[in-house]
Amino acid sequence: MRKLPVNKICDGVFLLDEFGGTNCYLVVGSERALLIDCGTGFADLKGTVESIIDLPLTVIATHGHCDHIGGAGAFPEIYIHKDDTAFINRIQFTVPVRKIFSMGVGDARRQGVKVSDVKKGEYKTKFIPIDESFSLDLGGKQIKIKHTPGHSKGSIAVIDETDKIIFSGDNVCDALWLFLPGGLSVEEWLPSAQWLYEMSKSYRVFWGHRNAELKSEYILQVITWGKEIMAKTKKNAFPSRKKQYPEREDGIIYMTGRVFKK
Ligand SMILES: [Zn+2]
Repeated sequence: MRKLPVNKICDGVFLLDEFGGTNCYLVVGSERALLIDCGTGFADLKGTVESIIDLPLTVIATHGHCDHIGGAGAFPEIYIHKDDTAFINRIQFTVPVRKIFSMGVGDARRQGVKVSDVKKGEYKTKFIPIDESFSLDLGGKQIKIKHTPGHSKGSIAVIDETDKIIFSGDNVCDALWLFLPGGLSVEEWLPSAQWLYEMSKSYRVFWGHRNAELKSEYILQVITWGKEIMAKTKKNAFPSRKKQYPEREDGIIYMTGRVFKK
């Protein structure tokens, strides 16, 4: 399996790029390291982490989608918000599903990732449910979490208080996905996005895919689109259909039957 390209964000904070698929992050303290998300699992994430650190490792997932916890089998346990542990479908850890993903994701094929690289996980991973009371002292780096429901019910942002960095998962981004099963309404998502916008005035924000760093102005733009969807919608549609607003590549993708909280 190929090791992931590593980019340093600041001292002790690294972006591990699963070949243009998922952005995983490693925060390293003096006593312990924290891995945020474990990708789809077609590259050697564990080996990549071990090439950077020789410390006990805690793994946390920003949410329970297969491109963020597909690589779970390399780790004995993963912390995930209690509202997402209920949705975890173990099918996503199976070799055939991850093989399919490895073919379609980002730059993987071009960078030499082979379908045959996808192997059965080492562990039957235990998912440990957490809530906002979760915190971690990595030794010189303080970690907290914030529940940010929207993209999934149990989405969280991981906050590195020491470096003033937030790892926001997929809850605010270009082409934001609110349409998936288990996703929430635009109305229910909005407060999390507003929280992130306020925080982005004093924290750097990194999300789960593509161009990793989210700028304040862009977060505000996505919020404005969300508000516009609500203003243009009288009530939740039935039957519900998938729609992108605005009609441009990076517009929010949502279900017309899930604009407002029921
Ligand atoms: Zn996701």
